[in-house]
Amino acid sequence: MRNTNLTPTQLKWIWNIWHDSVGPKVKVPFFKMVDLMNVAARRNGYRDAGEVWREELEIQNLEETVERLYSEIEPLYKYLHAVVRHKLHKKYGSDQIDLKGPIPTHLLGNMWGQDWSSLMNILNVDNIKDELNDKIKSRNATMEQMVLEAEDFYVSMGFPKMTEKFWKYSVFEKKGNVTFCHGTAANLFSDGDFRMHVCGEPNLYGFYVIHHEMGHIEYYMAYEKQPPMFQDGTNTAFHESIGDAIMHGVMTPQHLQRLSLLDDEKLFNNDTELYLILLQALEKIPEMPFALLIDKYRWKAFRNEIPFQQANKIYWDMNKRYRGVVPPEKRDERFFDIGAKFHVPDGTPYIRYFLSGILQMDIFKSLCSYTLLGRNPINKLENRFLPLQRCDIYGSKRAGEQLRRVLSLGSSIHWSTALELITDHRQLTTQPFLEYYQPVFKWLEEYIQQHNVHIGW
Ligand SMILES: [Zn+2]
Repeated sequence: MRNTNLTPTQLKWIWNIWHDSVGPKVKVPFFKMVDLMNVAARRNGYRDAGEVWREELEIQNLEETVERLYSEIEPLYKYLHAVVRHKLHKKYGSDQIDLKGPIPTHLLGNMWGQDWSSLMNILNVDNIKDELNDKIKSRNATMEQMVLEAEDFYVSMGFPKMTEKFWKYSVFEKKGNVTFCHGTAANLFSDGDFRMHVCGEPNLYGFYVIHHEMGHIEYYMAYEKQPPMFQDGTNTAFHESIGDAIMHGVMTPQHLQRLSLLDDEKLFNNDTELYLILLQALEKIPEMPFALLIDKYRWKAFRNEIPFQQANKIYWDMNKRYRGVVPPEKRDERFFDIGAKFHVPDGTPYIRYFLSGILQMDIFKSLCSYTLLGRNPINKLENRFLPLQRCDIYGSKRAGEQLRRVLSLGSSIHWSTALELITDHRQLTTQPFLEYYQPVFKWLEEYIQQHNVHIGW
């Protein structure tokens, strides 16, 4: 689905094959699971299992909080949606795209339409994603070498190296008859036994997954000395955000040049800088309403607000409302399209990824404030600092120490205390998220004005 050279018919075929074969099989077991989990939850004094899921995050009024946070991000999503729709219209025409309506999800370059980075090549900008992928491939590096590069980033900030058992037992690429390919970082709770299990490929996505999973492992290692009951993240959203905060440091022109993935002449090129942020915007911003939706749907299911006979209709109604996307064709109740997302049959909550989207930017911004150029203005007279998008945390022991100190406390502290120790504030804020993507917002705004693009659906 990432291949935008395919025709809409071919993309629809692929989308249908996956959703038709996976979703329906999940529907009955999903509702059975909801009932059983609710029985267990109620026996333990909860209203339903959704309440159990939300409790783990320890965020008061989580449902209202995430809605409020999303309302702050939504204008940015709507701008991105509007420009992408306009570009898709140019590519596919009015047959496929209604310039004022929702976007058919199979045209978004990802099976679930949650990551739009494959659409970089329809935006009429230098395709930095293809460039980076080509560079990564041309190096002929093994997955193990890429893991070493990720390790080097963490070590440069003073984090410990991966353990002997990590190198002995981890799986980095698909070998033989491997059927489980979902990226995982495992803590075996046994004397340095931390493992990474990914079916990585030498491309940008593989590089991201390695950094993400290594963030989990550095967290495991940091709290290994805590008593067993505190050997956990302060909450799952925090756990998810560490590797991604580091990855924002990897995606700077400076670090990509350090890895020989960016040519020297592009190091101070403003366009390259913008496209790197645009690429991350395409990956991360559509994920926000998607993550919100996946759990809002399941919280409703746990409250028995999703009748079996309307399960798919409600899913697509919510998709239209929150994401402005529709299925390639009408889907009836024979299908259960939410079931075609791994985390649904796997029974894994998803709102942590929404919260991680916000937390990772907050953590990244404060790590930046500990770096040399984050502490000192680049222009003293004007008191001008390096913009957040250019912040280079590689090699900053001070930033690393600040983060490690908090990670080493594991779940012995509340997440808001952990956040305060890193950022000096206890509340979730979208400010760093919006600051980071500000150049993209401006770029989208200009495009919208120039082409008189309709916003919303
Ligand atoms: Zn993760």
